[in-house]
Amino acid sequence: MHVPLLDLSFQYEPIRDQIIQEFSTIFDEKRFILGPKVDQLESDIAKYASTKHAIGVSSGSDALIAALMGLDIGQGDEVITTAFTFFATAGAIYRVGATPVFVDILPDTFNIDPSKIEAAITDKTKCIMPVHLFGQMADMDPILDIAKKHNLTVIEDSAQSIGSQYTSKDGNTYKAGSMGDIGCFSFFPSKNLGCCGDAGAMVTNNTELALKLKQLRNHGETKRYHHKYVGGNFRIDAIQAAILSIKLPLLDEQHELRRKNAALYATGFKDSIQKPFIANNCKTIYNQYTLKVKDREQLQEKLNEAGIGNAIYYPVPLHLQECFESLGYKKGDLPVTESCTETVLSLPIFGGLTDAQVQHVIDTLNKLI
Ligand SMILES: *Cc1c(COP(=O)(O)O)cnc(C)c1O
Repeated sequence: MHVPLLDLSFQYEPIRDQIIQEFSTIFDEKRFILGPKVDQLESDIAKYASTKHAIGVSSGSDALIAALMGLDIGQGDEVITTAFTFFATAGAIYRVGATPVFVDILPDTFNIDPSKIEAAITDKTKCIMPVHLFGQMADMDPILDIAKKHNLTVIEDSAQSIGSQYTSKDGNTYKAGSMGDIGCFSFFPSKNLGCCGDAGAMVTNNTELALKLKQLRNHGETKRYHHKYVGGNFRIDAIQAAILSIKLPLLDEQHELRRKNAALYATGFKDSIQKPFIANNCKTIYNQYTLKVKDREQLQEKLNEAGIGNAIYYPVPLHLQECFESLGYKKGDLPVTESCTETVLSLPIFGGLTDAQVQHVIDTLNKLI
């Protein structure tokens, strides 16, 4: 039996005709970039993320770059983040001229360890950029407390976590992206809410900042050919926006299917299999379902033979990437991160898995581990 790591057909089959209809309308109208479809998406995303504003952009990576620019972060500034994430998190910081400062992660959630943040703060620190990895939010209460105490901004890299939830010590439950100054989403096809190309969004509750972010998206233009800032071309296509507006109402149901699959894994896997840890105050969207395993290479070989898709997110931590050599990190600097890169293995979790496929994964893993 073949169990792919991700198959998007189940997401697109039911809405195929609707999407083709939208293609056709947009093609007739020929408003290909920004415009009413993007306005609609922004209002849909803001509502979904429980924020006042959303600004659609060209990708999750560009959302991070524009967010940093919007908070005036650049040359000489330091941004605290994690090295156990997709490259774009630190790449964005570096590209605006700032320095990524990597803090180790918690071994259970894979998210930034708040107890290690303060030691990394210097007089150059401007911002903390937690990543809500694999669909689970980072522990935002202590992060926001530290940011407040040291007068730092917070950008949530929510690229993998749209719709994920965190219950704060104040008793309220918050959506990913709505707790910091700016939240950034990616609509890359394999994210829980993906489009048919590249796109992303920023969300914020700060109205003044929202306007600036909107201007930065379009070369810092305030009115036609008048530029208040040097922004970039971070614009989003109408076609991607229209597709996302069609898919968004179906998203919670798909999150639920992922959680159902995770629950089947949790009861099916034998005790010795180290399953994902989800904090009591978090509701994950399982962008990835990630185990910690021994003898990973051998296990991967056997899984491939059994037709079970799998992947390593991420094999090389960012502090040890060749392009960041000049930052001066060495092996051993972030022991938890480094050990996770050696043991993590992600399994199929997408909503379209059949019960038989889930059972095949369970039976195979129980036999192999
Ligand atoms: C996917 C991702 C990004 C980048 O998003 P793109 O849309 O691919 O540019 C940034 N951060 C994290 C954690 C991601 O997973």
